[in-house]
Amino acid sequence: MTQLQGIAASSGIAIAKVYRLEAPDLSYSKTDVEQPEQEVKRLHDALEISKQELEKIKEHTKASLGDEHAEIFSAHLLVLSDPELIKPIEDKIKTDNVNAEAALDETANMFIDMFKGMDNEYMRERAADIQDVTKRVMAHLLNVTFPDPALINEEVVIVADDLTPSDTAQLNKQYVKGFTTDIGGRTSHSAIMARSLEIPAVVGTKEVTSQADKDVMIIVDGIDGDVIINPSSDEITKYEQKQQEFEKKKQEWAKLKDEATVTSEGEHVELAANIGTPEDVEGVLNNGGEGVGLYRTEFLYMGKNQLPTEEEQYDAYSSVLKQMGDKPVVVRTLDIGGDKELDYLDLPKEMNPFLGYRAIRLCLERDDIFRVQLRALLRASVHGNLKIMFPMIATLEEFREAKAILEEEKQKLIEEGQDVAESFEIGMMVEIPATAVIARQFAKEVDFFSIGTNDLIQYTMAADRMNEQVSYLYQPYNPAILNLVNNVIEAAHAEGKWAGMCGEMAGDEIAIPILLGLGLDEFSMSATSILPARTQIKDLSKKELASFKDEILSMGTSEEVVQFVKEKTNQS
Ligand code: PEP
Ligand code: MG
Repeated sequence: MTQLQGIAASSGIAIAKVYRLEAPDLSYSKTDVEQPEQEVKRLHDALEISKQELEKIKEHTKASLGDEHAEIFSAHLLVLSDPELIKPIEDKIKTDNVNAEAALDETANMFIDMFKGMDNEYMRERAADIQDVTKRVMAHLLNVTFPDPALINEEVVIVADDLTPSDTAQLNKQYVKGFTTDIGGRTSHSAIMARSLEIPAVVGTKEVTSQADKDVMIIVDGIDGDVIINPSSDEITKYEQKQQEFEKKKQEWAKLKDEATVTSEGEHVELAANIGTPEDVEGVLNNGGEGVGLYRTEFLYMGKNQLPTEEEQYDAYSSVLKQMGDKPVVVRTLDIGGDKELDYLDLPKEMNPFLGYRAIRLCLERDDIFRVQLRALLRASVHGNLKIMFPMIATLEEFREAKAILEEEKQKLIEEGQDVAESFEIGMMVEIPATAVIARQFAKEVDFFSIGTNDLIQYTMAADRMNEQVSYLYQPYNPAILNLVNNVIEAAHAEGKWAGMCGEMAGDEIAIPILLGLGLDEFSMSATSILPARTQIKDLSKKELASFKDEILSMGTSEEVVQFVKEKTNQS
């Protein structure tokens, strides 16, 4: 038995065997061949089996994520049958007398370089398709396993160095009982998606991939952040009990599903949910969410090979708004960059992607992309209670420019005779310390703030949210963070605006009493955190917590804050 400690990223207990999700070694040696026909046959066998796999993945993706996400696999299938690619590979085998691996690699690379250099977006997307497909065919030629999370058909726990958000989106909850990774933090996007899929996860173990072999039993404790490899039968029994207790607690929480969120003195605060897709709304409603406080629209742009059209976006936004009825829905405009990449935009690799070209910075420069999204949002605005917010605002000029573009698109739509809601709130995320410091100036121009602590903490503490080596600096209760948060809430209230929080801190049981005392109006969190939070808030007095405010804000360390809050709220 080996026990590892990581970061509890999504609660629940998973017990199953290990499935290792890792990039296969595709290195090969180029050899001369005497019977090229045999190589051509090997090539065709590898192509055929790749096609069969892609068909299956396509069907699976269609069923779990919808047609739109399945499209990318249709494009991949087309590549596999394209004579303009296959014929030159065959010719190379025959004329150069080389093995199929070398012919495939060299020919594919020639096309990839050629398409990548073209000025045409469609062609650049094809380069990405060829790259993806070639890897699969190569794996078959080399007889190495090419892992496909979508094809898993038995109960497993995924073990990986890291999971990309699109890997996570492909996971089938029926079979994938949990996952654990070497790297990542509680706010990396795979962790956030694990919570919306309700899959137990422990991330940032640093070494699970070097410890957990394929097919051995593993326990992932997403409540306390423990991973147990090769557990004894006693350990398994212990964790099965913990699993049952967790299920019981869930039933307890569920009793508050249709209740309003009120403090012990009866004051209402709003508990909203963070979502990534229209399919997540069901979980929000099942967990008693009073609104959507953050719709991360970037998932509409990911896991495919081209930008979503205005119509696709309109459908997604309308669907969320209609499902939520008159409850508020805060939609955040595209926040790509950081750990959320879009291959097809061919953005340059950066030294510090979280400090680089992302979110509103990209949208203001690529306003062709931004305007399509704004049009779709404006058209959808008639279907519910929409609020729009801009991510990663650093300066007032950025906010003004984004708002002006939104206004321009609104006028255009009106001139075209389209229906647009008469008024809706326009706000911004506060996730860059510069905006928290002068929140008062911003508060005059925005309708609301939503504090994005996942980024605010990483920028304030200068600690990459993906890097487990510095995860000890991810300190939501550090007085530096609390003072910034307080500044934002006070600034909003001084201008008669509201302040919410959509970073993971909003659902944290130590942070909730502090934030209540600071006067936060809206708490937006993973849907599964809503009912535990409502249960907690019911026994908290906002008035009493507010009386601790000055004392907490003048403390020196995170530890002091935690001790104080635990004492005052009887948490062990
Ligand atoms: C945040 O930074 O707190 C936030 C909610 O945005 P994201 O996690 O998508 O960067
Ligand atoms: Mg952010």
